[in-house]
Amino acid sequence: SIDFKWIRDNKEAVEINIKNRNSNADLGGVIELYENMVNLQKEVEGIREERNNVAKKMKGKLEPSERERLVEEGKSLKESLVTLEEDLVKLQDELQQVARSIPNMTHPDVPVGGEDSSAIRKEVVGSPREFSFPIKDHLQLGKDLDLIDFDSASEVSGSKFFYLKNEAVLLEMALLNWTLSEVMKKGFTPLTTPEIVRSSIVEKCGFQPRGDNTQVYSIDGTDQCLIGTAEIPVGGIHMDSILLESALPLKYIAFSHCFRTEAGAAGAATKGLYRVHQFSKAEMFVLCRPEDSETFHDELIQIEEDLFTSLGLHFKTLDMATADLGAPAYRKFDIEAWMPGLGRYGEISSASNCTDYQSRRLGIRYRPSEPVQTGSKKGKASLPATKFVHTLNATACAVPRMMVCLLENYQQDDGSVVIPEPLRPFMGGIEIIKPKL
Ligand code: AMP
Repeated sequence: SIDFKWIRDNKEAVEINIKNRNSNADLGGVIELYENMVNLQKEVEGIREERNNVAKKMKGKLEPSERERLVEEGKSLKESLVTLEEDLVKLQDELQQVARSIPNMTHPDVPVGGEDSSAIRKEVVGSPREFSFPIKDHLQLGKDLDLIDFDSASEVSGSKFFYLKNEAVLLEMALLNWTLSEVMKKGFTPLTTPEIVRSSIVEKCGFQPRGDNTQVYSIDGTDQCLIGTAEIPVGGIHMDSILLESALPLKYIAFSHCFRTEAGAAGAATKGLYRVHQFSKAEMFVLCRPEDSETFHDELIQIEEDLFTSLGLHFKTLDMATADLGAPAYRKFDIEAWMPGLGRYGEISSASNCTDYQSRRLGIRYRPSEPVQTGSKKGKASLPATKFVHTLNATACAVPRMMVCLLENYQQDDGSVVIPEPLRPFMGGIEIIKPKL
């Protein structure tokens, strides 16, 4: 449940936030609908009370004419009530729909502005490798080492799809298995998820399943979509539930394929593996108490940085600016790694604290286990009120861009590619990918 009263009472702050985040949310429309809804609710309650009064009166002794009048009055009140209740449901639906566009509030330290305004949290880890030979990009390496086939995929599926072959298949599995095993050591529960979900869950997680620029593939003739990230089915696991405080935090590391239309991405690095329609990803997801979410955000970023450091990547961590946060995130840190073939840094991960944005929409609460109050004379125990959990998500390993980094950074002058040490045990001991004879 979205806190519309809070939104109305903090209209100015919400308006500034919408502007800073470059959102097209219709705040005026939301407040107007909310006020109409409150008025209609009052009207409905008034009529219900009148109906109760009529019913009460009918229990007493009455003249037949008076009874008849009351029956008529009761009938007409019931009719009005049915109509108004229908109107109320419609209004509530409309309000929920319009309110979807309102973004989460923003952490006060987030830099205001567009992409170029993002602040650096961690300057750089490692340094770009110096090459003493002319380098290849991952497309060339993929072709020369018979690792990636874009041409067949383009025929079979369309552009921005790929087949992996030979050692690249083992490398994908190794990346995922190594990542899962590392993250599980930090107490995360492994999951695989459904990759088709109901559109309503996509919406409740803060993504738009329909519309011109949607990133989501919808399935014709159903109310279902392909997932763009495991965050959606993992968020859905606990929807409409009340968790015990003692069960928190819940920490998951989920594997799934991700499907994205990449609408509007024309022109952006579209060649090769960098931006594709289907890819594998291991995603971390945390549900915790509100007071702990900033600490878990730090923990998630630290895990990402440790994973990428272990793989020997050269990267920097960015505190993303307001216009780059999307709707659900309160704060977001992206990691960008050096991709020699592209000759630039490219985003490889993203860690967001969504505070109560998703939990309010998904209905995920917890009951604090604070000392039981003994307010009444009889010493009756009263249960503490429930609160919304905070949710966080962070990329542990998005395979294609990791492949770009590994192939391009670990290439050698004879055209081979060295496998980083942590992955070798997960690849049956392969240390190097050599050109095929
Ligand atoms: P996001 O869920 O959009 O924050 O993306 C998480 C990570 O997935 C990014 O940091 C990328 O590494 C990867 N990623 C996102 N979109 C694509 C895509 N279209 N193709 C390949 N990798 C992607």
